[in-house]
Amino acid sequence: MRWLTEALGALEAQGQLRTPTVLGEPQGPKATIRGKSCVVFCSNDYLGLKDHPTLLQAASEALRHGVGSGASRLISGNLSLHERAEQSLASLVGLPAALLGSSGYAMNVGALACLLGPEDVVYSDQLNHASLIDGLRLSRARVRVFPHGDTDALRQLVSRENPCRRRWVVTESLFSMDGDLCPIEELQQLSLHHDLLLYTDEAHAIGVLGPRGQGLCRARNIVPAVLLGTLGKALGGSGAFLAGSPELRAWLWNRCRSTVFSTAVTPSAAAVALAAATLAPTLDTLRARLSRHRRRLGDALKRLGIPSGGDPETPIVPIPLKDERATLTASQRLLERGLFLQAIRPPTVPRGGSRLRLTLSAAHTDEDIDALLHHLPACLP
Ligand SMILES: *Cc1c(COP(=O)(O)O)cnc(C)c1O
Repeated sequence: MRWLTEALGALEAQGQLRTPTVLGEPQGPKATIRGKSCVVFCSNDYLGLKDHPTLLQAASEALRHGVGSGASRLISGNLSLHERAEQSLASLVGLPAALLGSSGYAMNVGALACLLGPEDVVYSDQLNHASLIDGLRLSRARVRVFPHGDTDALRQLVSRENPCRRRWVVTESLFSMDGDLCPIEELQQLSLHHDLLLYTDEAHAIGVLGPRGQGLCRARNIVPAVLLGTLGKALGGSGAFLAGSPELRAWLWNRCRSTVFSTAVTPSAAAVALAAATLAPTLDTLRARLSRHRRRLGDALKRLGIPSGGDPETPIVPIPLKDERATLTASQRLLERGLFLQAIRPPTVPRGGSRLRLTLSAAHTDEDIDALLHHLPACLP
């Protein structure tokens, strides 16, 4: 397959070749990478829940039901554990119903493909996650991409549109790579005014944002038509859920292909989802610790003159370096000093948008952050 060798060579020449980093002995925010003990500063485990005793116990107790669920939900894989997890997840985000699935990627693709069609128009934020983009492509809806977070531009697009069956706005609430928030109130206003359906992806917001970590929509009292939440980020486990009305759930049961044609998540994953949904609202102490880390880091970066982005309310702090190779070099230098920050490059971010995406966790210690601040300046170009 010479063409692959050539294509890989081309990626390498552009500084875009990706190879996975192997983490050995992961424990909390630490792991062994190439024989060296490292602190991980690029995980989405914002609260440190992947190691939480309550979730560990939930996972191990569920093993008495087996390590697998045996079939898709509609055949014989629909356990009472799944149903209970869904009720808890729905109440976490303050919506009437939820459907649990294997991943946020799969659920976004499955939901968008079965809710929208070629007769519909959808306004999609320019920085939306790949799973939203792929779901919209599969739906064959007419996609209008609007500049990131720009409600004026969106308003213009909306008022110029020709009649169609239904219109949607699709956005992340907390943007994964930039760490900023969507203008949710304005989007809600616009949706009410122009009869648009709002689809919000709260993958990075659940567990983190809002007074009880219930996400941006709940914090601002906004009821989207569809909400996606993941279990693999702040909630510590794996899988994802779609939340909305009971009718939405019934439609997804019938038409969401990533649910209909996919094996139900394992009993342990469902048990972790259930436990995490119950636990997350009680963890204000961890969220306060995360905010404290964030403030300290933000202040220090400013003092050091290191440009960074992200909303100060969020644990995602992009350090823009633009160039692919410069970003790779910085990441390698940090790794040599026991700090793991993955280089984020196209196509995850636009061309010229390469960056270190620094993420904080309540599981980090003050010493971890001291070490980061000590080494960072010398590792950047
Ligand atoms: C991570 C992510 C997803 C995918 O969720 P997984 O459960 O990891 O597949 C979807 N949307 C956004 C915005 C994400 O950041």
